[in-house]
Formats: sequence, C-alpha cells, structure tokens
Amino acid sequence: MKESYKTDYKWEIVWKNVIIFTYIHLAAIYGIYMACLYAKYWSILWFVAVTIAAIIGITAGSHRLWSHRSYKAKWPMRLILMIFQTIAFQDDIYQWARDHRVHHKFTDTDADPYNARRGFFFSHIGWLLIRKHPDIVIKGATIDCSDLMQDPLVVFQKKWYRYLMPLCAFIIPTLVPWWAWNENLWYSWHFAICRYCINLNITWSVNSVAHIWGTKPYDKSVSSTENIGVSLLAFGEGWHNYHHAFPWDYKTAELGNYKFNLTKTFIDFFAYIGLAYDLKTVSADVIKKRVLRFESSTSKMTPNILNTDSKILTEKDLQNEESSITTKMIDAENYTQNRSKNYTKIEGWFKMEPKWLNILYLGFLHLYFVYACFTFDFFENLMTTAWLFVTYGLGGIGTTAGPHRLWTHQAYKAKWQLRVILGICYASAGMVDIYNYRFICFMQDRKNFFNTIKSFQNNIYEWVRDHRVHHKYTDTDADPHNSNRGFFFSHVGWLMVKKNPDVIRRGRQVDMSDVLADPVAAFNIKYFPILKFMFAFLLPVMLPVYAWNETWYRAFVSQDIIRYVILLNAIWSVNSAAHIWGSKPYDAHINPTENRWVNLFSGGEGLHNYHHVFPWDYKAAELHGSPTTTFINFFAKIGWAYDLKEPSKELVKTVMRKRGDGSHSLWEAVPYPAISQIE
Ligand SMILES: [Zn+2]
Ligand SMILES: [Zn+2]
Ligand SMILES: [Zn+2]
Ligand SMILES: [Zn+2]
Repeated sequence: MKESYKTDYKWEIVWKNVIIFTYIHLAAIYGIYMACLYAKYWSILWFVAVTIAAIIGITAGSHRLWSHRSYKAKWPMRLILMIFQTIAFQDDIYQWARDHRVHHKFTDTDADPYNARRGFFFSHIGWLLIRKHPDIVIKGATIDCSDLMQDPLVVFQKKWYRYLMPLCAFIIPTLVPWWAWNENLWYSWHFAICRYCINLNITWSVNSVAHIWGTKPYDKSVSSTENIGVSLLAFGEGWHNYHHAFPWDYKTAELGNYKFNLTKTFIDFFAYIGLAYDLKTVSADVIKKRVLRFESSTSKMTPNILNTDSKILTEKDLQNEESSITTKMIDAENYTQNRSKNYTKIEGWFKMEPKWLNILYLGFLHLYFVYACFTFDFFENLMTTAWLFVTYGLGGIGTTAGPHRLWTHQAYKAKWQLRVILGICYASAGMVDIYNYRFICFMQDRKNFFNTIKSFQNNIYEWVRDHRVHHKYTDTDADPHNSNRGFFFSHVGWLMVKKNPDVIRRGRQVDMSDVLADPVAAFNIKYFPILKFMFAFLLPVMLPVYAWNETWYRAFVSQDIIRYVILLNAIWSVNSAAHIWGSKPYDAHINPTENRWVNLFSGGEGLHNYHHVFPWDYKAAELHGSPTTTFINFFAKIGWAYDLKEPSKELVKTVMRKRGDGSHSLWEAVPYPAISQIE
C-alpha cells in the first residue's frame, strides 16, 4: 500500500517555505532566550494576550464558526474573530476553512492536507514544506465553500489579507511594546516571531499529536484522538476523536467531564451577551448510540488509506445522524432559545422603509451629544449641572409614573392635580416623533395638517397604545419594539423605520376609551406639540439663563442635548437592554429581564421581568425603593394617588417558583430540594 502512494506522489520540497520556517523557529528560540533575560513584564503580558487572541481566532473563528458553522455570530463578534484570525496568520479564513473541510471529508487519505498516516512530522509541519498532493486540489475543488463568500467579513479579509496580515500579525504586536513601554525594538520583533511560532505549533499539534496519541472513544476508524495536552494548549481542540465524529458541535467535546475548553467559554460568553446564537450541539442519545455502535464492532478494519470512498460512506452516516441532532442554545429551555427561533422568522421580515427625517434628527442629536460631552464643562456652573439632574429626574418620573404606570397599566388612580403634574413632566421628557412628522404631514397634506399630526405624535395616546400592544404581543411582529430583532432595533431602530403592518393592525384593536375619557390626558394629547416644545425645550433652557445668568448656549447644550439624549436612551433601554440582558426570576419563558443598570437610569423600570409578569403592580418591581415608586408613595400619603394595586406576596412566590429561572434570592435562602418538596 505504501508502495502505491509513493509511486503516484513524489514529494517536491518547497525551499522557500523551508527557509521561512527554519528562520521562524531559530528566531523563536532566540526570542525565548531574550525574553527570559531582558523582557519587560508588560511585554510578556502583551505577547501572552496576543497568543491567546490568535488561538481564539483560529478555534472559535476559522474552525468552529467558519469551517463547521457550529454556531452563528453577529457582525461585531465576527469582526473580532476576523481580526484575531488575521493575527494568527495561518492563511485567510476562506483558505483555512476550505483546507479544514477537506481534512474532515477526506481524513487520513491522500486528499487530506495533513494526512496523519504519513507520520508525526508530516502532519505537524512537513505538509507545509512540500507541494500539495494533487488529490487535495482535485478533491478539494468538490467542497462547497460558497457560504463563506457570503460573509462580507470573509470577503473583506480575503481581499485585503496582504496588508491586514503583516499589520495584525507582526507590525502592531512589535510596535506596541516599543511605543507603549519602551521595549527594545529588536527584542520586540523576536518576541513577535516567537509568539507566532508558538501559535503555529499549537495549531499544528491538533493535526499531528491529536491524530496520533490518545484514546478513541467515539470512532475507532479515524486517526483522530482525545488528547488532554493538546486541549490545554489549543483551548479545547484536543478532544479530536469526538470532533471528527460530531464536527458540528460548537463545543468540539462531549458535555460534562471535559475541561480545558476555553473556546467554549469564549463562545458561551458571547452567546450570553447575545452576539452568538444558534449554538449547535449533539444530544446525549446520539453520542451514546454512536459509542455503542463502535464498541460492538471493534473488529472493524483500519480503513484503506488510499480508498477515499470508505470515508465518504462514513460521511454519509454522519449526515444521517445530523438530522437527529438537537439544535439548542446553551440556556436550554429559556429565552436564548426563543430568541434564536425568532431569528429565522426575521429572514421573512417585512420590508423596512426608513424614516429619513427621524434618522437625520436622531443621528444629528447623538453626534452633537458626543461632541457636547467632550466640550461641555460640567463644573463651570454647578447650578446648571444640578438643574440637568432635576429635569432628567422629572422627565423620567413623568414617563414612568405617568403614561406608563397610570395611563397604560392603571396600576393606581390619581386625582387631577397629580395628573396635571404628570402630564407636564411627561411633556418635559420630549419623547421623539413630533417635529419630523409635523413637517412631513405639512409637506404632504397642508389642509388636513392638524388632523393628521394627531395620529403621528408620541403623545400620551400614542405612548399608551404602543405600550399596551407591547405588553399584549411582547416580542412578536406586532410589538413596536420587538426585541427579537436585536438590540439596535428595539432601542432606537424602531423609530427609524415605518411600523410593521402588524403593529398598526393590533394598535387599532386596543381599547383606548379610558385614556380619552380623562380630560387631563385629552388636553395633553390635543396640545402636545406646544406643551412638548415649552416644557421639554424652551423652559428648561430659559430658567438657567434668567435665574443664574447662564449663557444661552450652555443652557441649550446641557438641557436640549445632554439631558435630552441621556433621558431618551434611558427610556429606550427598557425596551432593549431590559429585554435582552439580565436574569428572569419570575418567568424564564419570556424575553424581559431584571436589569439593574436600566433600573438605575430609568428610575425603577428596569426590573422588567417582574413588570411583564405583574404589569398592574404600581411598583413595577417586587420591592419598594425606586424613585418612581417613592414618588407615587409620597402622593398616596397626601391623598392625590389612591387605589395602589399590588399582588400578594404569596402570589408572587407561587409564580416565581413555577415559572422563574431560579435566580430569585428566595431560592438561595431555601435549598432547591426543599422548595420542590413544598410544592
Ligand atoms: Zn482532525
Ligand atoms: Zn474541525
Ligand atoms: Zn417590555
Ligand atoms: Zn409596561
């Protein structure tokens, strides 16, 4: 057998590569020697960090994401991985993934670029020092890589690799220590080479060591093995027998006993913050079946090295099994899964029509905000800064205690005096929509101008209707700020596009008679444009000018830019962050979460998991203490607020035990089994 492949494949050494790799290894040895003697601590830390980034770029990036598609990642994560992968300098992603797919499909045959049957040296580095076997090229051409070319980041990297690679892999890593802490440039260069050499050998060891030494619990017919040493070095890629049996598993290892899988931790973290999703894994059943099948057939012959067909058969087996894998997210039953399911829905999403004026308006506002934050001196006049906090608080409480808890949820009742205060405070928040629409409507239909604008402003009527739809159809197409469309959409994106027809349809069905029956609300709705202009933009600017001689410009910037933008984002974050990040102690099956940051900035609306379970609780949280709740409590004391609604402690407890995710502090006080016994 060996004879035959010797005859049809003559090794042809590529001398250029031999020289390069020899230099790299010699320079690396010199680099290690110099590092031990002279390196600054910062340099060592820096190169360890670069090494880790490069390993992650290969394992989480070109291997698990692009070669095997074992999970999906949003563009920020893909961008990070693309940069990390460039640091590693092991060909561009496209090339790497194609070689790797060939390796999986034709493992241990001539078409395998790093065929381990040819021994350690060949599979480790030798394959890079000779011309490729023709089979690799011929059979490699049959591998479908079209999916890779659909990723703009892969295309971008492929196009600019010539410039990106030296920059990311050598120039920046060398210059940073020299520039930042005066490392000797000569040493720095050799540390960079040394780092690269270590990275290369770690990756190569997956192809060599993990194909030669170790156990084979899953598939005895392939050369790949389970090797703990490689796993340690390559962040979890050493469980390679498993990986060849189930290449689509994002863990590249079986659950549980396997440690040393830093890449899995890395992906899990990004899944937690919502940038990675659709994590694929294998059910325990399938693994068991597979292990048993191979145990019963221990007499299985070692596969014919040259006969690629036998491998293709196994490949087909694999495909049969693939249909039975369960695609699930790490947090098996809770929201992440719901989220990932809904992503598929997005493909057939309604066509978004941008509202250009809103985009321009919000874009300008936020750019000005960034500029203002850097140039505005908050300490020049402390009265102005204090006033900023006051109007921020009033606008926030106006929105949360007013249209939200009072008019939408009727969580308490209020006398007209309090309703007037709330109406003014809400107007001072200046919720976005009006100017742009007034303008558009004016341009389109001058005659019916005043009639049309009413249906377009974000006055109490609009606000309450949108929010009732949000609670009734949370995170579906009918939700105005459906958080399944991602952070940006639910935060501000929904204001920048025309509404989904579902939102409009459901919005019309909402009963709004109670709001219109309230004369204070009706007045507020009717004169909202004027009220908003006065209380949100004019009076807050006039006060500092006339009361303590502030300049018009500083008063304008502090109120109409800084205060306004922060307040808008705080209120929006209830729809976005508090639907994406946080725990779910009351109902694990919905998106809304308990988010302390949102709670802080929005005056007590961030405990949103609770709020969606008990929307009629005037506290919008299980406990007292938030500014808005304190505000309502104060007015309850003087008699302007009454009929405050709250669920009983028992009801909260029951619901939390039945549907919560177990993160409620009560679960810590009483050990888990004890609670289940109570039930
Ligand atoms: Zn392999
Ligand atoms: Zn692989
Ligand atoms: Zn919500
Ligand atoms: Zn609500």
